[in-house]
Amino acid sequence: MSSLEIRNLNVEIDGTPILKDFSLSIPKGEVHALMGPNGTGKSTLAKALAGHEDYEITSGEVLLDGVNIIGMEPDEIARSGLFMAFQYPSEIPGVTIANFIRAALTARMEEGEKFNAPAYYKDLYEKMDLLEIDRGFTSRSVNEGFSGGEKKRCEILQMAMLKPSYAVLDETDSGLDIDALRVVAEGVNKMRGPELGALVITHYQRLLNYIVPDKVHVMHGGRIVRTGGPELAEELEEKGYDWLKEEATVGPA
Ligand code: ADP
Ligand code: MG
Repeated sequence: MSSLEIRNLNVEIDGTPILKDFSLSIPKGEVHALMGPNGTGKSTLAKALAGHEDYEITSGEVLLDGVNIIGMEPDEIARSGLFMAFQYPSEIPGVTIANFIRAALTARMEEGEKFNAPAYYKDLYEKMDLLEIDRGFTSRSVNEGFSGGEKKRCEILQMAMLKPSYAVLDETDSGLDIDALRVVAEGVNKMRGPELGALVITHYQRLLNYIVPDKVHVMHGGRIVRTGGPELAEELEEKGYDWLKEEATVGPA
């Protein structure tokens, strides 16, 4: 079966262990949510998966449809079909959104394949309309001077255009007001289907009212301590995260 399979991943930052034997499996076609208190290692997971050089993977496996991506360069990981929407997207001065996405698509083309510009712009404008992004944004530099909400929409636009096999969305809900949250969630929901496996990382249950996950995982102390259905997110909303501390010391359920 096709899946994004994370097995016993140990990740350190400057010699400090952050992820501890972290394991998670996301079958293609499913959307899983990863929740947990601040500082527990959610973003560390996203960055380690993306191949960020500051996040040292000391042991474990990450299999993308059976292929181990550990040790690959970030662009190779992206071209293998893993998309990342980061909590704090970087600004890329001088590179417009239209050219940025175009470059990413061209990098994925087979040798001899020609870029179809009219089809590209048609698709781009459709997706921008869906995400309620003003068309003027195509000629603006990626994320430069964007509001928090505009950055998040732009991330989802990239995902919609690149059509990855797997996507990790790190706190795509942060900085969004309720209307923007709905638009972004609708964008993600439109991409749901048998060809996409997604991990939606969030601190709050709110997003999961709009993107209803197949499974919810709760992280504490660098590993998953609980897995359940969407009702688990509601339980967390009520009780907060403190009650999990005890379970974290006992280990995963
Ligand atoms: P979360 O996303 O769950 O809030 P993070 O993965 O951002 O948590 O952080 C996990 C831990 O790793 C925290 O203790 C944080 O201070 C530390 N950390 C994260 N990134 C860095 C970094 N670049 N340098 C040093 N410490 C970091
Ligand atoms: Mg984070």
